[in-house]
Amino acid sequence: MQVTKTALKRIVLNRLYDHLRTHYSVSLSRATFVNAEPEAHAVDAATAFRSDIEIEELQRALDRIDEGAYGTCIHCNAELPLEDIRKDPCKRICRGCEKFVF
Ligand SMILES: [Zn+2]
Repeated sequence: MQVTKTALKRIVLNRLYDHLRTHYSVSLSRATFVNAEPEAHAVDAATAFRSDIEIEELQRALDRIDEGAYGTCIHCNAELPLEDIRKDPCKRICRGCEKFVF
């Protein structure tokens, strides 16, 4: 998958922003939020004192991007298609393995 870490982070941050907008009040603009690095103040401030499974999953996804462990299937290690990642940025299982797991 020829996608930069920055591009992957933007996908995850967009989803995180949508979630925060839907469930909490967020005063930041999408551009400020999405273009900030995950460790940057803007993202920390927006997620401070807000915690739910979706936020935690998305933050874990950001950690995995930093670790270089993002975008591959936890079962077979295949790269996940970008299309699937866009649909579900927290996805960790490829379609082939999903059939066996679920
Ligand atoms: Zn797999």
